[in-house]
Amino acid sequence: MSVLGDIEPKNVFSFFEEICAIPHGSGDVKQLSDYLKKFAKDRKLKVRQEPCGNIIIYKDASAGYEKSPAVCIQGHMDMVCEKASDSRHNFKKDPLPIAVMDDEVFARGTTLGADDGIALAMALAILDSDEYAHPPLEVVFTVDEEVGMEGAKALDFNAIKARRVINLDSEDEGVFFVSCAGGLRGNINLDIEYKQHSGIEYDVVISGLNGGHSGEMIDRYNANAIIIMGRLLRFLQSRMKIRILELSGGLMDNAIPREAGCHLHVSKENSTTFEDTVAEFEQIIKNEYKANESNIMIYCENLGMSHKPALRSGSAKDIVFLLRTVPDGIIRMCREAGQEGLVETSLNFGIMRLDDEKFTLEAALRSSVSTQKYALSDRLGMLADAVGAEYTEKGDYPAWEYNSESEMLPILKRLYEEQSGEAAVIKGIHAGLECGVIYHALKPVDIVSFGPTIKSAHTPKETLSVESTQRTFKLLCDLLGELK
Ligand SMILES: [Zn+2]
Repeated sequence: MSVLGDIEPKNVFSFFEEICAIPHGSGDVKQLSDYLKKFAKDRKLKVRQEPCGNIIIYKDASAGYEKSPAVCIQGHMDMVCEKASDSRHNFKKDPLPIAVMDDEVFARGTTLGADDGIALAMALAILDSDEYAHPPLEVVFTVDEEVGMEGAKALDFNAIKARRVINLDSEDEGVFFVSCAGGLRGNINLDIEYKQHSGIEYDVVISGLNGGHSGEMIDRYNANAIIIMGRLLRFLQSRMKIRILELSGGLMDNAIPREAGCHLHVSKENSTTFEDTVAEFEQIIKNEYKANESNIMIYCENLGMSHKPALRSGSAKDIVFLLRTVPDGIIRMCREAGQEGLVETSLNFGIMRLDDEKFTLEAALRSSVSTQKYALSDRLGMLADAVGAEYTEKGDYPAWEYNSESEMLPILKRLYEEQSGEAAVIKGIHAGLECGVIYHALKPVDIVSFGPTIKSAHTPKETLSVESTQRTFKLLCDLLGELK
């Protein structure tokens, strides 16, 4: 029984339902890739399946558009597999348990994968029908966007002739993206030494921070638990001798860390002062962040005397130097017309680790200007060098730079405003999109990104708005019709 079969536009929703029945979590898209290949073959459309699973489907122009330059429609195949704790869904084999209520399509207890399955469904509906007017089409479906944009990075761009790209991986109807940041991961690794030490052991935890995505939410000035830990250690050192036994913070380089912890040794005489100093520091931080972080807490517990390996003072000094001197958060805002209010360059130290031989800090650097990204990375390299630490760059990906000469954007804006009666919102995003990889490979290229409203993507609460899909599909078709 079809769940979505009666919803208009019927072809969009029935393709979406078919996609939902095929497992397609990141790293597991072979079946969906084969389905898309078969879709094209069945309709005698030229198709290319790349070794990684990327699919490119070509369709000739409709009548009257034969001379128009090609247009690329693009989305990603893979979805984030998240489920509620009581869900028994098996993402490797079960069809998604989709349902619809009022205006919302969702999956019971799991992610829906409308990010980005709805892009595929809309593109398939256009490829499947003769009813829409369009230039020659090159439809690109990439694999594994959600895990480092691996499909886009592996794509053979020689197979794409289009220099007008419509990316359908945005989740907010009425918002049209025109640029995105590039980024890289910067890792600092410091060799450290321990020495046996005795003292009163304290467990100190900084918690209750808001956190957030290190790109999209960096402009909220939320506190970074790792950076705060650096300040606390320095504050304590200015009052008394401490020894570091353990030190950790954060979980992912692209999330603002919400928690950091350490174990310290303090002399017996200093233990009261120690607790007072931590409490004093907690008040300083609470005051600094009173506008946006109401739940910051610094917890401190006396664990009694212990005899353990503690960092040698030279190692501890180097670590505190790094934590206190590395830049944090927003470095520069965009100044270009049309990009006001957008963060240009930022970084987030998301992971801090101390093990037997090394102290590690991992940062996500982002910028819509690649030279700024490398200048910031160079600065981290110099700071690492100052204490004899090693610095490495990983996972470099390019920005999608704003193109004030876009031909598609004014058309899209006008169409949207005619359709909705509201002003289109034109935005850049301070996070990575596949458009960055595409821009870098195809430039000069005109790219826009939009999509129907999807709420709570990447969570089991993900929903897709039916009406928004209807309007967005019409907008896409109208846009193609105007790209003569
Ligand atoms: Zn997506």
